[in-house]
Parts: sequence; structure tokens; C-alpha cells
Amino acid sequence: MTSQIKIGVSSCLMGNTVRYDGGHKHDRYLSDILGHIFQLIPVCPEVECGMPIPREAMRLEGDPANPRLVTIRNGIDMTGQMFDFCSKKVRDLESKDLCGFIFKKGSPSCGLSGVKVYNRKVPAWSGSGLFAAAMVHHFPLLPVEEEGRLDDPAIRENFIERVFTLRRWKDFLLGEPSLDR
Ligand code: SF4
Repeated sequence: MTSQIKIGVSSCLMGNTVRYDGGHKHDRYLSDILGHIFQLIPVCPEVECGMPIPREAMRLEGDPANPRLVTIRNGIDMTGQMFDFCSKKVRDLESKDLCGFIFKKGSPSCGLSGVKVYNRKVPAWSGSGLFAAAMVHHFPLLPVEEEGRLDDPAIRENFIERVFTLRRWKDFLLGEPSLDR
């Protein structure tokens, strides 16, 4: 059944008020369209790693290849707390049998690529959010995208096709009949 295909989603995109300012970034395409096709599994790494709502805004700093997660106003380094969470969460998500993940663009935790990394106050647009990077590293075959890119019909179709392909591959390995689509 296609309804059993699970996709992880940055929680704020589902309309959950988990952002640093107590708001959300509800994306109706996800909840109203993809939510009828797939089972969406919301994850907010910042809240789930123990940060409050609201909380101080954060950004990535240092080496773009190995950035640190730091609060903007008080310079508190949250990298260790986030890394501890990520290492546990990726193992927890193995049991969810995800076939894709849609991340919130630009976030120092969830941004997939092109996240600003500040080094001596000069931003480089080359980082990945710490949770997104951990997911890509732990699940190298998982189809991943950012919410804004799904506005492009070709990118959207490609992502959905990759999700179904992964599901079929998993079913093949399990010896189960593949999904009709
Ligand atoms: S971008 Fe990620 S960490 Fe930030 S509020 Fe949304 S789900 Fe939480």
C-alpha cells in the first residue's frame, strides 16, 4: 500500500510551532498533497535535542566542512548537544523504514546544502545543517530534498520517483510484492 511509505519531514514544515521564535513554516504542498500519498514523520532536531521554544536563534560558524552550531546573541556552542542527539536519532529512525526526507531550507540544523557558515563574520554559502548532514551520512541511499526545491515540477517528480524506487527495492530485498503506481 502506498500509504505505508514513510517520509521524514522537518517538523516546522508540517505547521508545528517548533521554530526558535515559536512559529512554523507550514508548507501546504507537504501536508495537503504529499501527506495524502505518504505517511509523513515529523522531526525537529532542535526541540528533540532538548532546546526550548522559544530559543535563541543559531547559526553555523567556522570551517564549512566541519561547522559548529552556535547561538547568535550569546555565542553558546550547541554542537555537542546536537551531535549527541543526531547519533541517537539516526539509529532510532532505522526502525521507521523511511523512504525519503524533506528538509527545511537554510536551517543550521535541517538545511541540506547552501546553509550560511560564518567565519570571521563573512558568510560562506556552503554548509549543511548538522542534522541533515548526519542523515545523509547515515542513510546514503535515502532520497532527500529541501522544501523549496519541490516547487519545481521536474525536481518534485524526480524526488517522488526516487522514493517509490527505494520502496520497491526494499520490498524486493524483503521478498514482498512491489508497489503498483
Ligand atoms: S528547521 Fe528543523 S530544527 Fe528548525 S524548527 Fe524546523 S524542524 Fe526544527
